[in-house]
Amino acid sequence: MFGAGGRMGSTVCAAVAADAELELVAAVDPFHGGIDLRQLGVPDTGLQVARSADAITDAGAEVAVDFTVLDAARENLRWCAANDVHAVVGTTGFTDEDLADLRRRFDKSGANALIAPNFAIGAVLMMRFAELAAPFFETAEVIELHHDAKIDAPSGTAMLTAQRMATASPDWAEDPTETVVIEGARGGEGPGGIRLHSVRLRGLVAHQEVVLGTTGQSLSIRHDSYDRTSFMPGVLLAIREVRRRAGLTIGLDALLGG
Ligand code: NAP
Repeated sequence: MFGAGGRMGSTVCAAVAADAELELVAAVDPFHGGIDLRQLGVPDTGLQVARSADAITDAGAEVAVDFTVLDAARENLRWCAANDVHAVVGTTGFTDEDLADLRRRFDKSGANALIAPNFAIGAVLMMRFAELAAPFFETAEVIELHHDAKIDAPSGTAMLTAQRMATASPDWAEDPTETVVIEGARGGEGPGGIRLHSVRLRGLVAHQEVVLGTTGQSLSIRHDSYDRTSFMPGVLLAIREVRRRAGLTIGLDALLGG
């Protein structure tokens, strides 16, 4: 586990430790090195957090999971490709260039990678429903809402949602705004010109609403993750399946038959 000391990392450690078929063999986090995993709320595994990725190869890990920060995740993925360790990644913010580079690396590697901006099944369905609805509406906006410690905006889920809606329908109405009183009032312009709005509030986990409008009606598609455990079934599925998915896979959909 890369990022074992983080909110998602410690939750993944606990989920893997509790799974009868999986074994947690290494936990890496340079800033939490030396801490017993029990201090992070993980049931007793006898493991301490290591400072470097060597702990992963030393332990003979087959799959590495990464929930860190973008710069670290880039490095960790390159390390996985070079060391033939399969990778399951939830860290968000990768650019198209990053993904192209990683695709090249994993095509050459003996290991595979799966990167998913959202491991919650409901969020995967929300993206699919938004994509299905897109051709029937001329206007759409995405409002994502997260906890107040999230460091990137907009969320990876919001970006991927807009990208998939824009691919499903290229015909979106022009933004009518002529005067912007406060910078950012119309949110960020995402793929297809779809506007993305990021809300950061203490108490939230991860939420998103896609609103689509056409003459006389609107459709709202909303998903809420109330707890980080909502991501765990998807993460555990990806850990089991990544070895069967050659190269780089983006999104959990591929594993759900979507
Ligand atoms: P977090 O609590 O800040 O955890 C990140 C952890 O990674 C921190 O402990 C951080 O240490 C550590 N770290 C930094 N550099 C590292 C490195 N080189 N190697 C190993 N660990 C390193 O953040 P979070 O809320 O868990 O979120 C992590 C990422 O997951 C974010 O990108 C978030 O958007 C994403 N996320 C994805 C999903 C999904 O379903 N795909 C769901 C939730 C969150 P320090 O704190 O000491 O810097």
